[in-house]
Amino acid sequence: MSTLRMGSRKPNTTEAMRQVIAEVRVRIPFDLPQARLCMGNCHGCSMKLLQFLDGELESWERRLDGGERPGFEELSNLVRTARKVHRVLERNGLTGDQAPPPAGRS
Ligand code: SF4
Repeated sequence: MSTLRMGSRKPNTTEAMRQVIAEVRVRIPFDLPQARLCMGNCHGCSMKLLQFLDGELESWERRLDGGERPGFEELSNLVRTARKVHRVLERNGLTGDQAPPPAGRS
């Protein structure tokens, strides 16, 4: 994860989760209009996946604000989910900016 390697101090899981959320919000095009999303010929429903991922991010933001500390598994699950959504968007031609997937390719 590019941002997580910066600096000499390792972030705790709460900071890491906030960084992942911020990175996902930048790299996943949540603001695409429906007319662009629904062009037919979909290989997986981009709209539903974006709604799902947005819900996951919002849920984690609420939980972090409430003081919950995520585990490493929850952190990696969110990264995995974001990568899967990014792959589907890529297949559907919706990542025209060629932005790398969230947290870089593994
Ligand atoms: S599969 Fe999803 S993204 Fe594609 S046209 Fe249907 S609702 Fe829109």
